[in-house]
Amino acid sequence: MKLSKRIKNVSESATLAAGQKANDLKARGIDVISLTVGESDFKTPEYISDAAIQSIKEHKVDHYTAVNGILELRKTIASSYANQKESPYKANEVFVGSGVKNVLFSLFQVLLDPEDEVILPVPYWVSFSEQIKMAEGKPVFIRSEKEDQFKISVEELEAVYTDKTVALVLNSPSNPSGTAYSREELEEIGEWAVANDVVIIADEIYIRLVYNGQESTSFASLSDEIRKQTIIVNGVSKTYAMTGWRIGYAIGDREVMNAMSKYASQANGNPAAVSQYAAIAAYQDENDEVEKMIQAFEHRLNKAYDLMKTVPGFKLSSKPEGAFYLFPDVTKAVEMTGYDSVDDFCLALIDEAHVVSVPGSSFGVEECLRFSYAVDETVFVEGMQRIKKFIKDNKLK
Ligand code: PLP
Repeated sequence: MKLSKRIKNVSESATLAAGQKANDLKARGIDVISLTVGESDFKTPEYISDAAIQSIKEHKVDHYTAVNGILELRKTIASSYANQKESPYKANEVFVGSGVKNVLFSLFQVLLDPEDEVILPVPYWVSFSEQIKMAEGKPVFIRSEKEDQFKISVEELEAVYTDKTVALVLNSPSNPSGTAYSREELEEIGEWAVANDVVIIADEIYIRLVYNGQESTSFASLSDEIRKQTIIVNGVSKTYAMTGWRIGYAIGDREVMNAMSKYASQANGNPAAVSQYAAIAAYQDENDEVEKMIQAFEHRLNKAYDLMKTVPGFKLSSKPEGAFYLFPDVTKAVEMTGYDSVDDFCLALIDEAHVVSVPGSSFGVEECLRFSYAVDETVFVEGMQRIKKFIKDNKLK
């Protein structure tokens, strides 16, 4: 059958494709080390699952809910932004959807007209650029230096700004680099966006996953002017080990939220009711389980970072502050082993060392590979050992 030009223009998610590749090899009985996953390996905390089960038993989940999410959940999300005093947000400034991916998709659909430009710092999470294109917008890339932890500056924003610029996407801490911006850096970017009337789309999905004393700053906590210029997206997936439950939200300008509800009312309806009750529990009853997971990730980062620095030809310019990925420049290792490109090297690692990572090209940086350390420490150690052996065995004489 004929397929649309729209779908032909879209690339498949490279992270999901790499994960699938690992699963296919496992199904063939091959002992694979998959370092592709963009999700926590912990179980959803029991108090959350219990609340979900309870909501099923009480028949709270049997019917459609409000398209933009149950009021109690939207109130809970709005109040989670209260910092000692009242929250700057109200429940009608929240839109709940089926995961952040789905929420971002609706957001681009309601914000963009054909040819509208969205500034996208490189490296970027794989879905941003494709979703912008699906909304007929144009991603405009800014590529900062690895040595600057890929952080963008106001000068770089200035250089790409045109009268078609509608929005800027900022994902801090970042997938794939793990870089987190400081409050001062965010303020500078925020002030630039206010001055130029550019909407900030702040993907804060990893905001709680910061380590080694790094402060995490939400755009919601900057000046009122910057906050009003910003739509924040976040959800339960990463922080609460709930990727399977599919709950994400946007918070910000009420008219934008209403437009997203209108869009969802025709596109997908409400997110699953049972997951919404689970999310209410996650945000309301939080105990120390999240803290324990964060500590475990910090421990794994410290180990994984030290270990990766010992892999010949892998270069990490600085230690990531958040998320759960390492994004080394591997060009030296590629040179040492005589492969033509990082993509070829990545494929050879899969075929010969049975270690799966995600090529940096899908995040806009050809020189890098992305490795997730959201796996048991022993798995990561084994993965690095295999890579070292692979490099040693294939080293050009
Ligand atoms: N945003 C970023 C930066 C991500 O890394 C991911 C998942 O990998 C998402 C959004 C999607 O999250 P969700 O599971 O809520 O759809």
